[in-house]
Amino acid sequence: RVAPMQALGQRLGGTRYFLITFRDVSQARRIDRMRSDFVANASHELRTPLASLKGFIETIQGPARNDHAAQQRFLGIMHEQATRMSRLVDDLLSLSRLEIKSHVPPDQTVELAPLLGHVRDSLQPFAAELGVEIMLDLPDGKVEVAGDRDELIEVFENLMENACKYGQEGGRVEVRLAPDEGGHPEVSVTDFGSGIPPEHVPRLTERFYRVNVEASRSKKGTGLGLAIVKHILTRHRARLNVKSELGKGTVFTVKF
Ligand code: ADP
Repeated sequence: RVAPMQALGQRLGGTRYFLITFRDVSQARRIDRMRSDFVANASHELRTPLASLKGFIETIQGPARNDHAAQQRFLGIMHEQATRMSRLVDDLLSLSRLEIKSHVPPDQTVELAPLLGHVRDSLQPFAAELGVEIMLDLPDGKVEVAGDRDELIEVFENLMENACKYGQEGGRVEVRLAPDEGGHPEVSVTDFGSGIPPEHVPRLTERFYRVNVEASRSKKGTGLGLAIVKHILTRHRARLNVKSELGKGTVFTVKF
């Protein structure tokens, strides 16, 4: 849609001149809508644990005033809710930091194989809790990309963590680094879980988009992980491909 900004008529001699300027505002409106949806979603996500915290505080001050066992139980839940809120705030801050520097290309040289090994090791306790084994398939030689080490760690942490969470319980996750046909490095993270229905796949990297909100919450998800991944990869001029088959599993591939 086009909105006329300015139209003016001026008489010079016997001729009337017009200057008409057009500006396409559809993109600006879309961005405004996305921004207000985002604020509404973020507020809602924060309000839920806050309401629960408030409820428990009131219960501890009131009906459970003298019930020590109940108080201990409630404090445990309150701790979980507070942790959930701080995870969400961390992810929101990550996103906003990434937005600020989205036009600055990363300037480090990052060796991918040791980085993937590092991420796997740091996720080992989390995977072990779920009975999942993360297996690495790495080439012998050096594979380097221009990038930001911390951001790439965040990308592969998110992808491996999702593969563990949404993959098969007690199963395995495969992480493979190899060149594609054109010689560009590619990292794939494969799980053998229930897969993602095809209609959801194009929307996975939207902020707060989840295939199943309750499943995501119960697995300590914020719904922002893949949005963060997409932002980082855009800054790295890398792409994220998703291939999923229901009942078989999912492969997320980062193409540098
Ligand atoms: P969350 O914090 O909810 O995990 P993400 O942005 O990381 O948020 O992922 C968005 C949604 O994509 C998840 O809620 C989940 O429904 C789906 N998803 C992500 N990775 C996988 C996977 N490997 N298998 C199945 N579903 C997945």
